[in-house]
Formats: sequence, structure tokens, C-alpha cells
Amino acid sequence: MERTLSIIKPDGVARGLAGEVIKRLEQNNLKITAMKMLRMTKSQAKGFYDVHRERPFFESLTDFMVSGPIIVMILEGENAIGRYRELMGATDYREAAQGTIRKDFATDIEKNVVHGSDGPETAAFEIGYFFNSFEITG
Ligand code: GDP
Repeated sequence: MERTLSIIKPDGVARGLAGEVIKRLEQNNLKITAMKMLRMTKSQAKGFYDVHRERPFFESLTDFMVSGPIIVMILEGENAIGRYRELMGATDYREAAQGTIRKDFATDIEKNVVHGSDGPETAAFEIGYFFNSFEITG
């Protein structure tokens, strides 16, 4: 069993895509073991995306991530990290495979509806960033 962090980004929440994303998680056997809606502060967003601090899109990305509420979830299952990244599709929706969340709904390389951890260490950091042990049901 593996855990990963999923975020429905501000564009996904604002456009009413939460139900559609959650339906796809459930249909693909990614068990939701924790979930909450929140709005990050700018400093929280910068801390979350610290690995991208030097990238040219860092300011824009962190502004976008605080532009509205997000839904954060912990997903659990066998190979959850890789399976969820497959469901999301490539970062750039134009390169994402047919039937993926980003291919179906993203409108922009930045406004790409969902986030998913990219490896076990990142997942552990990201889960701890949003949830404490009392909030995890799995
Ligand atoms: P992910 O793991 O697929 O989310 O991709 P990355 O970790 O590489 O990038 C994090 C997030 O930054 C992406 O999901 C996008 O929202 C945003 N992003 C990535 N590349 C670009 C870019 O070239 N321009 C802009 N504006 N945003 C980007």
C-alpha cells in the first residue's frame, strides 16, 4: 500500500470539477483516506512548491494556488503515486494522454486542475504539510 497527496487546484474547484475528479479516483480504486477544503496563504503555497522556487513560473504558480480554495486528499492503494499520476496525465495538457483528467479539463499548463505527488519522499513531505496523524482515517 502506498499513499499520495492529491490536490484539486483552484481552477478545478471553481469550475465545479471536484465531483468529476473524485468519481475518477473512486472508479480507479484510489481510496480517499483524508480530505479537506482550504485556502492557502501565499507563504504556505511557496513552502509547498519550494522545489520550484528558482523556476520562472514560481510567482505565477503560487499566485494561482492561492486564488481560491483547494481540496486536498490523501489517496491510498497499490502503486497509488504512479496510478494517480497516470490518471492526471502530463503536466502540459496538450501532451497528456486521452482520457486523463488534464487532457479532458485543463486549460493551461499552469491551470491544470490537479496535483499529485511525484515520488514516495515527496508524498511523505506533502501529506505532512497538510495533514496530522489524527486526520488520516486509513
Ligand atoms: P506536475 O508534477 O505535473 O504538477 O508538474 P511540475 O512539478 O513540473 O510543476 C508543478 C506545477 O507548476 C504544474 O502542475 C503547473 O501547475 C505549473 N507549471 C509547470 N510548468 C509550468 C510552466 O512552464 N509554466 C507555468 N506557468 N506553470 C507551470
